[in-house]
Amino acid sequence: MQRCAHTDQIRDVEPSAEGCEECLAMGDSWVHLRECLTCGHVGCCDSSKNKHATKHFHGTGHPIVKSFEPGEDWRWCCVDEMLVQDACGRLYEGTPARRRLLHLTGRGDQRPGGAAAEI
Ligand SMILES: [Zn+2]
Ligand SMILES: [Zn+2]
Ligand SMILES: [Zn+2]
Repeated sequence: MQRCAHTDQIRDVEPSAEGCEECLAMGDSWVHLRECLTCGHVGCCDSSKNKHATKHFHGTGHPIVKSFEPGEDWRWCCVDEMLVQDACGRLYEGTPARRRLLHLTGRGDQRPGGAAAEI
């Protein structure tokens, strides 16, 4: 299976904004967000009318974006037009959302009644 050869351009980036930078500046809206893993630029996806994430790729050549949507962790290479796999061949997909769900529902350390003993 073909493997993306651009993963060396992934940096430890901080997202540049809470939403699409360009759309926020224009006062426009978007559908989904993508974060550039080379510089941290946040742009809107191809389902959005302005497609700023793709424009960012064409303008900078930064190849790999990840989903900026809550619970999504997949990465996409704009050069290869394929999902990016990690070193073990797993796709970045699905697992963080499930882990977060388990974290939310798995709390069993509350102790009811303890505070009501003394009046
Ligand atoms: Zn690639
Ligand atoms: Zn945008
Ligand atoms: Zn970038």
